[in-house]
Amino acid sequence: MTRPINFGAGPSALPESVLKEAANGLLDFEGTGIGIAEISHRSKQFTAFVKKTETLIRTQLNVPSTHEILFTQGGGTGQFSAVVYNFLARHRLLHPDDGEPVLDYVVTGSWSKKASEEARRLVGGSRVHIAGDGRREGKTFTRIPGHSEYSFSPNAALIYYCENETVDGVQFSHDPSAPASFPFDRLPTTAALLPLVADYSSSFMSRPIPRLADHALIFAGAQKNIGPAGLTILIVRQDCLVDVDAAAALGAPPVPISMAYNVIADAASLYNTPSVLALYISGLVLDRSLNLGGVQYYEQLNRRKADKVYAALRDGEARAIFRPKVEHGSRSWMNVVFDVLGDGAEARFIAGAEQLNMKALKGHRSVGGIRVSLYNAITEEQTDRLVAYIRQFT
Ligand code: PMP
Repeated sequence: MTRPINFGAGPSALPESVLKEAANGLLDFEGTGIGIAEISHRSKQFTAFVKKTETLIRTQLNVPSTHEILFTQGGGTGQFSAVVYNFLARHRLLHPDDGEPVLDYVVTGSWSKKASEEARRLVGGSRVHIAGDGRREGKTFTRIPGHSEYSFSPNAALIYYCENETVDGVQFSHDPSAPASFPFDRLPTTAALLPLVADYSSSFMSRPIPRLADHALIFAGAQKNIGPAGLTILIVRQDCLVDVDAAAALGAPPVPISMAYNVIADAASLYNTPSVLALYISGLVLDRSLNLGGVQYYEQLNRRKADKVYAALRDGEARAIFRPKVEHGSRSWMNVVFDVLGDGAEARFIAGAEQLNMKALKGHRSVGGIRVSLYNAITEEQTDRLVAYIRQFT
């Protein structure tokens, strides 16, 4: 059976070779005779696997020794809450007299908006400062703001952004000279170690991370480029692994134990039972990725894939059939979003694609249109098939 091409935004396609390997692992994990969903997370085979997976991330992203790599659960949404708690605790220890610090959010799409709303829920709206907003006249998210449009607070407890907006198809450029790059030059210079937090859920491992060492925390749910849902990956700078109970004693909100970064780190990501199966499959994906050439390999591949799709859309725009939703320069490599113009044309586009075994092209229910997700597991050949379809669609 030929498997359909799954352009879904997450959970999303995984390499077929990994799925086959994982099927064997479900019956027998690394020769133990026990399946991966059955083996103790404290067995020496599994703890070694966790260490190896950590190293696979460290090596491929060139993560410096100042940062720990942690595994947890709760997804991106769990981190929307966790970042608030952990960074309030850190801020309280650093600035015991600054009782009500501000939290800075850059809002460039639905996910960073949601994260800022969770912060509002937890600390109150008056303390959440929107430091940048991609919407023009408060409308939809179609771009990354220009560098001059940001206003960061001088002593925020955290500075938050989402590198790739999965729903809106808006992504920061990784070329530092591009107008849509993250405005590192605009960040306050008062603190040596800035509390810079980035949601990399839908672009993690798809290309190198610019200025990784300058981040306090990078987090990503696994279910796009890495593996099944259920695993959340954290890259945390060591000064953010603070004693959350000492902070609570000074008046910071107590941090739920499963969310406390210091607790997760002290237990080497095994404070409680991790998402064993998701971690296993993610480890296999990361091993395969290393063998292919790591994020440098994926950067080249993903650039070519995105270029081909956007080029086909550009021609379709000239034919008045397609309209990309995002402005030039801010377009995502991972989630390409566009409208199909004309009465009933969108439904026809999706039905025609289904007939060719290309699935999950419908845009997110909140924004409509078409969304093509081009995560690492989507091959260039599969992309070419979609591009051929886009080019002949009338
Ligand atoms: N951030 C981004 C960029 C996402 O794409 C998603 C999910 N699609 C989330 C956060 C939320 O993740 P989860 O569903 O794992 O909570």
